[in-house]
Amino acid sequence: MQIPPRVLTVAGSDSGGGAGIQADLKTMLALGVHGMSVLTAVTAQNSRGVQGAWELPVEAVTAQYRSVVDDIGVQAVKTGMLSSAALVSTVAGLLAGTPVPVVVDPVGVSKHGDPLLAASALDSVRGELLPVATVATPNLDEVAQLTGIEVRDESGMRRAADAVLGFGPRWALIKGGHLEGDAVDLLTDGTAEHWLRAPRLDNRHTHGTGCTLASAVASGLAKGLSVPDAVREAKEYVTGAIAAGFALGSGIGPVDHGW
Ligand code: PLP
Repeated sequence: MQIPPRVLTVAGSDSGGGAGIQADLKTMLALGVHGMSVLTAVTAQNSRGVQGAWELPVEAVTAQYRSVVDDIGVQAVKTGMLSSAALVSTVAGLLAGTPVPVVVDPVGVSKHGDPLLAASALDSVRGELLPVATVATPNLDEVAQLTGIEVRDESGMRRAADAVLGFGPRWALIKGGHLEGDAVDLLTDGTAEHWLRAPRLDNRHTHGTGCTLASAVASGLAKGLSVPDAVREAKEYVTGAIAAGFALGSGIGPVDHGW
């Protein structure tokens, strides 16, 4: 039997199963890679929002990472909710010098506006985590948090990408889904520029979109795809998952991985 590529997510748990570690592992299963997880935080969460969040000790995060990497090995890593400056620093330290691609989803707040990252952690994200990223995947709220740039149009996305690249990731994927019109993303390494467009889908059940996209990119990279190809395939995957998103609970339901 052929051994599948192995992908590690370093992220928080969503008890409702729509985002976080749960979305990551579902994406990886759907894309044919072996998913593994380093849990950073536990959230009590459902379709209405985040009711509580508890972060794991730095030692627990480090130990999970060492267990996976020292024995099983990884072909790509994805980071999501990291909660605090201490965890951002710890994870950045673990990933510094890793030979495999690292996808950083700089998770800031949930769709409901619940904070998933302390404001005091932003300096560590900019100064320690983004420099170890192969691809950083901020949405426009995260761009504003990290760079102070309020993006309103595609030229703003270009300026945002330059500012994000200034923190050191090899590629920036600026997700313009929060703008009006088509869902347009910009992928650039400062030289090549790839605009990815998908029609806006009329479905409010989009919980887990960002986690899913970043995990799909990491899965593609683990399979050996180039960054532009991995991002293109990931965008197709997340577009299908949003189209199939369904109502659960009384609020915003999850994207679907079974389409
Ligand atoms: N909960 C956890 C644990 C997450 O990691 C994330 C996003 O990365 C979210 C919630 C937010 O998901 P969404 O913005 O799709 O609601």
